[in-house]
Amino acid sequence: MLYLEERRQVLNTAREISKTGMVMGTWGNVSARSADDLMVITPSGVNYDSLTIEDMVVVDSSNKVVEGNFQPSSETPLHMRIYQKRPDVNAVVHVHSLYAAAFAVARKSIPVILEETAQVIGHEVPVADYALCGSNALAETVVKTLGEDKKAVLLANHGVLAVGFSMEEALRICYIIEKTARVAIYARGIGEINCLPEAEIVELNQKFKSYGQPKKPAL
Ligand code: 13P
Ligand code: ZN
Repeated sequence: MLYLEERRQVLNTAREISKTGMVMGTWGNVSARSADDLMVITPSGVNYDSLTIEDMVVVDSSNKVVEGNFQPSSETPLHMRIYQKRPDVNAVVHVHSLYAAAFAVARKSIPVILEETAQVIGHEVPVADYALCGSNALAETVVKTLGEDKKAVLLANHGVLAVGFSMEEALRICYIIEKTARVAIYARGIGEINCLPEAEIVELNQKFKSYGQPKKPAL
């Protein structure tokens, strides 16, 4: 079996988004880029609880299956287009989490209102124009909205998509988006939403790079 490490990452993340309620049923999908620019992606419409490492699907740059017994995710064109347009991206996580979906339905971007939003994302999460799920049009509108450096976008009337240098980063962004969307909706019920000023967002985002314990030099 090829791409064991990528398969493991995609499988673990798929299990986690299901376990933590970021997706319901079989919706949502996860992928990782391999060193030779193929992609490992979750199969389409398969129950998360039953997924095994063999079920992950390896796809080439023209979305053809290279290895796998299942049909790849119906959002394969979307994931592949992102890898082609964004050399800095090695992992993509797409979820249908509730509070982010509410913003996607209202077609309002998620504001930068929390320390974590500024640190982990560093920008408002914009809404990509509506397009049918699984379509090339959706791939194009998402890639356009992601631009050269955005970390995530909302998919109108659909859900949210995050990209990362690593799988860990893409998953963390999904969690922070969901928390931010939830807090924004709660805060709105109490009073007005106060966004962080742009200079503060830049500083928090910069500082987060050295957050936590100092990196130990390699032995
Ligand atoms: P798949 O099950 O085909 O990955 O699609 C689910 C989904 O979220 C479509 O947008
Ligand atoms: Zn979806």
